[in-house]
Amino acid sequence: MNSEKLSYRLETVTKYIPHGYRLADIGSDHAYLPCHVVQKGIVAWAVAGEVVEGPFQSAKRQVEEEGLIDQISVRKGDGLDVIEVGEVDCITIAGMGGALIASILEKGKDKLVDVKRLILQPNISAISIRVWLMENGWVLISEEIIEEDGKIYEVLVAEQGDEQSAYQKNLEKGLLFGPFLLDECNEIFKKKWKAESKNWKSILAKLEHASDTPENRLKKEELIRKISLAEEVLENEEG
Ligand code: SAM
Repeated sequence: MNSEKLSYRLETVTKYIPHGYRLADIGSDHAYLPCHVVQKGIVAWAVAGEVVEGPFQSAKRQVEEEGLIDQISVRKGDGLDVIEVGEVDCITIAGMGGALIASILEKGKDKLVDVKRLILQPNISAISIRVWLMENGWVLISEEIIEEDGKIYEVLVAEQGDEQSAYQKNLEKGLLFGPFLLDECNEIFKKKWKAESKNWKSILAKLEHASDTPENRLKKEELIRKISLAEEVLENEEG
């Protein structure tokens, strides 16, 4: 992968960046994503944010090598600390866990007042992001599930607005599976939740033999609930 030929995962993220928006890519690593969208003329200006020195240096090098230092500002810092209020219209955060993405948004909330769109690609726990979005006045406007090199990824797109509107049908299922993904229920979605359900069942089986502490009881209840929700969703589809 490079900025000319992005991974399918990052390519999918870029599809949702509106033309002409000022972008911040947080956790940019090599800055492939901002370099790509600037080279393609999708955005004219971007920030590449990185908290770790090595990836920050890689991002700087990449931007210099591509001759994009006037169009991409590479900044070192934690999450949204690297941007000012009103500086960007769109933020991408990709390739991290959902809980980390949600914590970056939570810590940097003040920077989001003028941001129009968030495009988030969690590797795991998309539910943490959906919950954060719902509690903070962001409405999901689109979701996509993709598979690349045997791994399944979700992409969540949100704008400021009526946070409940995406969850009219069923809040609990919507938060866990994704309201748009649930409606679409494609083959990749089914594959993901069959695998998750199998994994939950094996954790549950181990917990059955573990000591009967309140904590384990709670974990078991949660797993049983999630397994039953997944079965409902998959059965509905198959039935
Ligand atoms: N976004 C790229 C992608 O999707 O291919 C890189 C993903 S890489 C696995 C995650 C990057 O996020 C790492 O370079 C890491 O240093 C950076 N990162 C993690 N926490 C961060 C934070 N709080 N603020 C900025 N960058 C962060």
